[in-house]
Amino acid sequence: MSQSVVTPIAVAAPVVDDEARALVAEVLDSGQLAQGPMVARMEDLGAAMAGTTHAIAVNNGTDALELAFEVCDLGPGDEVVTVPFTFAATANAALRAGANVRFVDITDDFTIDVDLLADAIDERTKIVCPVHLYGLPARMAPICELVERHGLHLVEDAAQAHGASDGGRRVGSFGVGCFSLYATKNVMAGEGGLVTTDDDDVAERIRTLRNQGMAGRYDYVAIGRNSRMTDLQAAVAIPQLERIDAISAARAANADVLAAALDGTPGLVLPASRPGATHVWHQFTVLLPEGIDRDDVAESLRDEQISCGVYYPNALNDLPVYRDHDRVIAGDTPVARAVATRCLSLPVHHGLGRADMERLCDALKGVLSRS
Ligand SMILES: *Cc1c(COP(=O)(O)O)cnc(C)c1O
Repeated sequence: MSQSVVTPIAVAAPVVDDEARALVAEVLDSGQLAQGPMVARMEDLGAAMAGTTHAIAVNNGTDALELAFEVCDLGPGDEVVTVPFTFAATANAALRAGANVRFVDITDDFTIDVDLLADAIDERTKIVCPVHLYGLPARMAPICELVERHGLHLVEDAAQAHGASDGGRRVGSFGVGCFSLYATKNVMAGEGGLVTTDDDDVAERIRTLRNQGMAGRYDYVAIGRNSRMTDLQAAVAIPQLERIDAISAARAANADVLAAALDGTPGLVLPASRPGATHVWHQFTVLLPEGIDRDDVAESLRDEQISCGVYYPNALNDLPVYRDHDRVIAGDTPVARAVATRCLSLPVHHGLGRADMERLCDALKGVLSRS
């Protein structure tokens, strides 16, 4: 008896091609494994991706945020305004700098509510940190206007939005851009990060800080740290950065298939892009019909070899560690809370194709119709 083999569909899977393997081998043979020429090459590609004059490679996306905050001179008494519907790193980087975090709610596209942001800004506010969640840029025109009007710093959490743009301009170029190259991101190196900026001074300070504060060999000019990246990791990321537009296009094509096939499913809320914005579909996150048990849906899909993700099961400000923190202004964020209870991220990554998307949609519609 023959049994058809079902290929598992993963919510995230690193894609490593022969070019990456060859570049890794080149690094191993070169004798220069850290902060060497492959890192420099990756930085050039990172700057091209963000449309900035500088990209500085660092250890990970969290370091990118910490260093970006540091060069804005963030410290005790200062406030960072951001969203609670994000990965913890966004808030952690501010809290670890000794600053306050003020959470404001999102809109139904999962990015910061600009009207609430305007209300949240006060004399303590130093940094506005929008998150381009799931690959959709936050509304950058009004955000930049607010930042400018109040003389604030803009740090973009672009960890999920490599190559995304708003109003024709790439994310990471509006303020200080922070990208992650973690294994599941649109461009990945296993671990890694990039800070992007057009500001020569900011770039110089970050380069110095990531290397123990050295402006030259043992020329210490600041209290720095080790946030150097290895050339092995840079080698993994280079081929992806070279074809970032193709990666984004493949993800968008998958998202189009999902949107068309799932349209009209009762109670299911689909994610959308925004006119003027280019969504790079780090995740395709739906809101399940109200009253449906998300764990049951995910488990039924798992039975059909399809994995989904819950990004994120809680708004950060609903978790005691943040809500009860003496430097967190938790605020009231009903949209973030509601979204956190219903969200489910479906596989959409560029290692998948149309047939995978169709199998996924059939499976999801089947599960929902039985629920
Ligand atoms: C992944 C991620 C980070 C942190 O990046 P790491 O490389 O894991 O340190 C920060 N913010 C968001 C929104 C992320 O998704």
